[in-house]
Amino acid sequence: MTDTDRTLGEDFGRAFITVLRETLSAAAPALGDLDRRAGDGDFGDNVRVAMKNAEKNIAEKNPGTYRQWVDAMSMAWLGVGGTSGPLNGMFFRELSKVGAAEGADEVTPTLEQFAEGLAAGQATVQKYGQAEVGDKTMIDSLAPAIEALREGGDTSDALARAAEAARTAAQATAEVVAKRGRASYVGDVSKGVMDPGAAAMALVIAAAGAAAVGETKVDTDWIS
Ligand code: ADP
Ligand code: MG
Repeated sequence: MTDTDRTLGEDFGRAFITVLRETLSAAAPALGDLDRRAGDGDFGDNVRVAMKNAEKNIAEKNPGTYRQWVDAMSMAWLGVGGTSGPLNGMFFRELSKVGAAEGADEVTPTLEQFAEGLAAGQATVQKYGQAEVGDKTMIDSLAPAIEALREGGDTSDALARAAEAARTAAQATAEVVAKRGRASYVGDVSKGVMDPGAAAMALVIAAAGAAAVGETKVDTDWIS
C-alpha cells in the first residue's frame, strides 16, 4: 500500500449513483425553485424525471460495473428535456467511459481516472453548450472540483475538498448574471439567485465523496 490512497472501492459505481439519485431526488424541489426565480422553471421537473428514469434503468438493466452504473445515469438524463437533459446525459457518458469495458478485470477507475472523466465531461458540455467558467452554469462548480482533485491527497480528502470547492463556486454563481441557458433571457433578474445546474453539479461531486467513504447522505440544506 502506498502512503496516499487514491483508489475508489470496488462498489464505488453503485454507491455513487445510488447516493446521487437519492440526493438529487431530495433536492429537486429546491433546484426547481431556483430555476423558477431565475430561469423558466423546468429544472426541478427535469431532475425529478431524470432520477425516475434512472431508477427504472437500474431496475431493468441491473448494472454491475462502474461503467454500467454511470451509464444508467447518462441514459436517464438523455431522456429528459431542457438544456440540462442532453448536457448532463453527455457529461455522464464521458464520466462512465473511465471505467473499463465489460469483461475486463479492473473495472473501477482510480481517483485520477475519475477526475479525468469529469474533465472529459466538462469538455463535452463546453463543446456543445459553449459555456465558459463564469457564465453561471454547471461548468462553474465542475471546473474547481476537477482542479481540487488534481491537487492530490487521499481519496476521501481530495473528494471532500472538491465537494467543498464545488459548493462554494455554486453559491458564488448568485453574484453573477447568467450568460447561457434560459436564465440568460431574464438578464439582471438572475442576479442574487444561485444557478441550479451549478448546485446540482456540486451535489454530483458531494455524492461521489460520500460514496467513497461509505456514507449515504449528502447535505442539500444549503440549496435555497
Ligand atoms: P433550460 O436552461 O433550457 O431551461 P434546464 O432548466 O433544464 O435548462 O437547466 C438549467 C441549467 O442548465 C442551468 O442552471 C445551467 O447550469 C445549465 N445550462 C444551461 N445552459 C447551459 C450551457 N450552455 N452550458 C452548460 N450548462 C448550461
Ligand atoms: Mg430551465
